[in-house]
Amino acid sequence: MTEFATRAVHAGQEPDATTGAVIPPIHVTSTYVQDGVGAMRNGYEYSRGGNPTRDALQTLLADLDGGVAAYSFASGLAAEDALLRAYLEPGARVVMGNDVYGGTHRLVNRLHVPWGVELVVVDMSDVDRVRAALEGAPAKTVLWVETPTNPLMKIADIALLSEVGHAAGALVVVDNTFASPYLQQPLSLGADAVSYSTTKYLGGHSDVVGGAVVLRDEAFAEQVGFLQFGAGAIASPFDAFLTTRGIKTLPVRMERHSSNAQAVAEALVSAPGVERVYYPGLSDHPGHEVAAKQMRGFGGMLSVALTGGPEAAKRFVESTEVFTLAESLGGVESLIGYPSEMTHASVKGTELAVPENVVRLSVGIEDQGDLVADVLQALSR
Ligand SMILES: *Cc1c(COP(=O)(O)O)cnc(C)c1O
Repeated sequence: MTEFATRAVHAGQEPDATTGAVIPPIHVTSTYVQDGVGAMRNGYEYSRGGNPTRDALQTLLADLDGGVAAYSFASGLAAEDALLRAYLEPGARVVMGNDVYGGTHRLVNRLHVPWGVELVVVDMSDVDRVRAALEGAPAKTVLWVETPTNPLMKIADIALLSEVGHAAGALVVVDNTFASPYLQQPLSLGADAVSYSTTKYLGGHSDVVGGAVVLRDEAFAEQVGFLQFGAGAIASPFDAFLTTRGIKTLPVRMERHSSNAQAVAEALVSAPGVERVYYPGLSDHPGHEVAAKQMRGFGGMLSVALTGGPEAAKRFVESTEVFTLAESLGGVESLIGYPSEMTHASVKGTELAVPENVVRLSVGIEDQGDLVADVLQALSR
C-alpha cells in the first residue's frame, strides 16, 4: 500500500477480527472488561484514553500525512488548543498570519495570551516579516502557518517557512484544513505538525464537527496524546466513524472540488461586476507558482471581490440557487458566504478583517455546468 488513494481506503481499516466484518464496527462503549485487576485486553481501559474506532481514524490520519502519530478531537479548535498547550508555556511566543482562521486567532488571543503567551501577527507571504517576527524568539515559539488562507486564498511557502522557523528554533505547524492531506503534505515539506478541522474536507459531508493533529516527533506526540487524555476533548466513536468514512473518498472528492473550482474561477474572471477572483489555480494569482510547487491541485475554495461593494456582495450570496448560503466549507454541496458578516464577523475592525465586497465560495462536487450557470445568473441579478 503505497499510493495515497489506496491508503485512504485501507490504512487502519482491517476487517473486524471477531466477525470478519469488512467495515470495523463503531465501538460505542465507555469502558472495557478487565480479566483481573489491571489486566486489560489490548490496552483498552476507558474510552477517553482509548477507543478502537478513534484509534482506527488516528492510524489512518497518521498514515496519510506520514506522521508518527495522530490524535483526533471534538473540533478543529480543540485539536489546535491541545497541540498549542502541549508545547507552549508562559513567556512563549506564537507567530501567525494576519489572515488565519478567525477562531485560531481568537483561541490564542483570548485564551493563551492571558496565560502569558505573546502573539505576533504578520503577513506570512512576506518572509522578511516572518523572520523579523521570530527575532529574539523565546525557547518555546510556534510558527503557525495556514495555506491557502481563508478567505483571500493567500499562499505561504511551507518549505521556506519551515527553514526560517527552524533557524529560529520554532515549532512549525501547518493548518492544512483547506488543502487536505491529499493536496498538500506539510510534514514532507519540513513542518513539525499538521492541524486539521476534519469538519471540512476530511469529513467532507457537512455532517460532523471534528479536528485532528498529526505529528512527526515521537516525544512531542506523546505530550499531545497526554493533552488529549488529560483534557479530554476527544472525538466520539460515531464522529470518528463518520470522519473515517468520509476520508475513503477524499482523493476522488478533492479532484472534483479542484476541477469544479477552477471552472467557476475562470467563469468569474471575465464576468461583469467582478473586481477580482482569488483562486490559486489562476495563473495571475500571486501565489500560483508556490501553490503549483507544493500542492497536487488547487482545491475547492475561492473568493471573489465585486465592483458593486457590500450591497452587491450581499445580493450575490442571496441569489444563488445551487450554492447554499451557509458558514463552513469542504462538503460535497456547494456553499456560499459573506465573510465580513459571517465567518469573519469576530475579526471585524481588527487586522484580520475581510474586505466588505468579498464573497467566499466552497465549490462542491455537483455538475460543473450547473455551478457555473448558478454563479453567473446570481451575478446578473
Ligand atoms: C473550520 C476551521 C478551523 C476550526 O475548526 P472547527 O472544526 O470549526 O473547530 C480551523 N482552521 C480552519 C482553516 C478552518 O477552516
